[in-house]
Amino acid sequence: MPAKGVAVTADVVIAGGGVIGTAIAWRAAAAGLDVVLADPAYGDAASLVAAGMLAPVSEALFGEGALLRVNLLALARFPSFAAELEQVTGHRVGLRREGTLAVAFDAGDYAALTRLTAFRRSAGLEAEELDSRACRKLESFLTPDVHGGVLFPGDWSVDNRRYAAALREAAAAAGVRVVRDRVTAVLTADGADGANVRVRGAALAESGEIGSDRVVVAAGSWSGAVHGLPAGLRSAVRPVKGQLLRLRHPDGMPPVLTHTIRATVRGADVYLVPRADGEVIVGATQEERGPDLTVTAGAVHDLLHDAMSVLPVTSELILAETCAGLRPGTPDNGPIVGDAGPGGLLLATGHYRNGILMSAATADAAVACLTGRAPAPEWEPFGPGRFLTRQGER
Ligand SMILES: Cc1cc2nc3c(=O)[nH]c(=O)nc-3n(C[C@H](O)[C@H](O)[C@H](O)COP(=O)(O)OP(=O)(O)OC[C@H]3O[C@@H](n4cnc5c(N)ncnc54)[C@H](O)[C@@H]3O)c2cc1C
Repeated sequence: MPAKGVAVTADVVIAGGGVIGTAIAWRAAAAGLDVVLADPAYGDAASLVAAGMLAPVSEALFGEGALLRVNLLALARFPSFAAELEQVTGHRVGLRREGTLAVAFDAGDYAALTRLTAFRRSAGLEAEELDSRACRKLESFLTPDVHGGVLFPGDWSVDNRRYAAALREAAAAAGVRVVRDRVTAVLTADGADGANVRVRGAALAESGEIGSDRVVVAAGSWSGAVHGLPAGLRSAVRPVKGQLLRLRHPDGMPPVLTHTIRATVRGADVYLVPRADGEVIVGATQEERGPDLTVTAGAVHDLLHDAMSVLPVTSELILAETCAGLRPGTPDNGPIVGDAGPGGLLLATGHYRNGILMSAATADAAVACLTGRAPAPEWEPFGPGRFLTRQGER
């Protein structure tokens, strides 16, 4: 960490060391840029709480076609990105490709699943309808009470904690300098003609300033707290709380699950995501409670109740951890990735429910911007400009 007042410079300063900021840092350093990554408290990152689903198909909802396209781009990019990460670090990140089995508990749940499936098929996504018996052929521990289901083979998952750790290691190996501090503001200066405001660096809470003509704000739910962003952008990202459980198989117990299960139980959604190391993730609540990270008895009860309703054997697993994280949500549920103005300011935030999925593709898009190239066209609808309501607003 630089001492206060000591001049530090970099080609790029990145605010935020979740999977988004770290993936960008790694790829930017690999592209030859001198990168400083600032983050005060990595432990709060949503990236460490997430379930790790890479699920463009079962996340595809009515009216979100552009988001589906960027999620599909992200999924297509993920395997080569993860393979390079594993090769560079020597660590496995737990990529699984079994697909998502969506199951409906009762007839009403099934009717809703059928409507969504028709929509997903109409968008060209693969889906295989299964009766209760066929669901149990795929997952033998499912309750016979399950009404029916749909297999979405196009969804995958990754162990997001292993993935995040590997990203940090790869970034360090590529020469990224990490500063354990909070970016308080993006610093700007007028251009030679008094106009054309440009970034000149970042101010840190404890460590002075870092001089740089590129700053990337990738601070997840906290992105709006960084001063110097155009006002429309400061209010565009909000925290959406998610509570989640981590279960473990007792020693010697064979795996109870192969696919990711997404279940609707009398209108309530729950998912179970298996890991190769015996962990099963059960999630997640979706709550508009501001920056609250408490875990509540009611949420733990509801998640376990719904999980046990479809997979009764869940009751035999060990409750290893309860946690809560903040998804960076936006008004249209889409990410905010691209040049923001003032010149040199880049945003990479607002990834909401799909930040693990989108991390590799976001790194590509950000590095394209940082090196003067155009990001893939799928990103076009997700630029910061859509939240700039009034010109010149700061
Ligand atoms: C319960 C839950 C389940 C989820 N499941 C999935 C899933 O299955 N699949 C999926 O793709 N996504 C999932 N997500 C969403 C995913 O976790 C997020 O979209 C993603 O982690 C966002 O990454 P990020 O790097 O932008 O933010 P974060 O991971 O939140 O990281 C932001 C970082 O910025 C740092 N920071 C904050 N302020 C500053 C500052 N001023 N200066 C410097 N650093 C700062 C913080 O300390 C933090 O480390 C889930 C989220 C939750 C909460």
